[in-house]
Amino acid sequence: MNELNSVVRLLDLGVGKYGNKILYEDSDKTIEFVELRKLARIIATRLIREKNKDRKNAPVLVYMSKSVDALTAFMGVLYSGSPYVPIDTNMPAARLQKILNNLKPSAVITDSIHYKNLFQVEIFGAKSYVFSDISSGEIDDNAVNKVVDGVIDTDPIYIMYTSGSTGEPKGVTVSHRGVIDYALWLVETFGFDEDTVMGNQAPLYFDNSVFDIYGCLLCGGRAVLIPDSLLMFPIKLPEFLEEHEITSIFWVPTVMINVANSGVLKKYPMPKLENIAFCGEVMPNTQLNIWRREHPDAKYANLYGPTEITDVCTYYVVDREFEDSEPLPIGCACRNMRAIILTEDNQCAKQGESGELCIIGSGVALGYWGKKNITDSAFIQNPLNSNYREIIYRTGDLAFEDKDGLIIIQGRLDSQIKFKGNRIELGEIEKAAMCLEGVENACSLFNETKGEITLFLQTKEELMLRKVNMALLKYVPRYMLPQRLVTIKQFPHTANGKIDRVGLRKTYF
Ligand code: AMP
Repeated sequence: MNELNSVVRLLDLGVGKYGNKILYEDSDKTIEFVELRKLARIIATRLIREKNKDRKNAPVLVYMSKSVDALTAFMGVLYSGSPYVPIDTNMPAARLQKILNNLKPSAVITDSIHYKNLFQVEIFGAKSYVFSDISSGEIDDNAVNKVVDGVIDTDPIYIMYTSGSTGEPKGVTVSHRGVIDYALWLVETFGFDEDTVMGNQAPLYFDNSVFDIYGCLLCGGRAVLIPDSLLMFPIKLPEFLEEHEITSIFWVPTVMINVANSGVLKKYPMPKLENIAFCGEVMPNTQLNIWRREHPDAKYANLYGPTEITDVCTYYVVDREFEDSEPLPIGCACRNMRAIILTEDNQCAKQGESGELCIIGSGVALGYWGKKNITDSAFIQNPLNSNYREIIYRTGDLAFEDKDGLIIIQGRLDSQIKFKGNRIELGEIEKAAMCLEGVENACSLFNETKGEITLFLQTKEELMLRKVNMALLKYVPRYMLPQRLVTIKQFPHTANGKIDRVGLRKTYF
């Protein structure tokens, strides 16, 4: 077997070990290791043959519903030597266009439901394929093997787009090495094996899904994709977990909170559920304690990591009950990763001292696709090391190390927020609002206490929230819509002429 230069080597290995065992499952179909490899190599053969020579190894957009087919498309793209780019099919066309302008994909794989949406955007001559068509045909083993042999482990595996403060989504580009090391760490830490069954909650365009997709690929387990429609009904989730004999979940706290609050945990013992991991935002102790009380035998882990790190870089196994007022630690760095806290003058923070959490290691992303300037400001040389090149990612999270050496998150240093599990740059909402007719200026603030986004608009006329939101939907996804609108004739300004955000907070919150 060749060295682990590409994630598809894990699939090659898996075929030898697990053969006809089911790897992925959705509500319509299942796929085994052998079949996945076969279909993926059919897709790759076609992509390689029809690749535009100037855009060789350029990314391939996967514009499909969350499904076994989408996962098959990912593997097909990887066998063709390109990174895949999973995209939310509910995204407004204007936002998708911004992504396409930045990405310039070599090809697009879509499904029959979403094919037509692509007529609304410019895809820059990329070849577009419908999954059912590209996944049938022949395999050119020589061509595929040659391409895979040429992959280097630091080549990109996927690009995931996150909200950008300038109004342009940023394409976080992650390497094969990041995913391989992460999968190895996961399997070892959680003791995953062939009997593992993961209940996937995360959309495939959100990096939490990397846990399920590659954790199962490596350990020979099975990932069951929970239908989106079911995720709207927290009360139904435990029944689904029990029915599918799920052993591990890795969910955003918002979903865990909803399930805990629904009171349904009491009804389902879920004896198979061994690992309950969560990541993406603060997990409140109240709801965590409900889970722990109802399911005391499971292992609970608070995982932390921005998209710019291959999913997760620190973790904390929750080993005791936390009071409501206590912060839940994010713990210590995972293997292959290191976490440092830098003070404002770029010194290493002492224990108990706050600073910006910065991450080093193989999971650190390669940067933002096609955006050198913002890459250079977020991925910087480690200021504590002047001897050789060592890139750190500045997370923008304020943190300190407690007396037990565990990292505690205190908040953000910028205007990025987490709202119901979604990462949002308030600047993206402001930029979208500035496109609306009659809007002279826009400012968006998050009220943590009420859990709502307020949009302030400088306009001559009063506007209604509902109408503004209808118009905003042209530019931003639904989860970015404000819950409250305040129209003002003239924004207050600070001494240096900027919008007085502190003043707006004081007056309106
Ligand atoms: P995303 O890129 O969507 O994964 O969002 C990353 C951001 O979510 C981090 O920079 C943190 O601000 C926040 N975050 C992720 N995991 C946790 C956690 N376990 N506890 C608190 N905040 C978290």
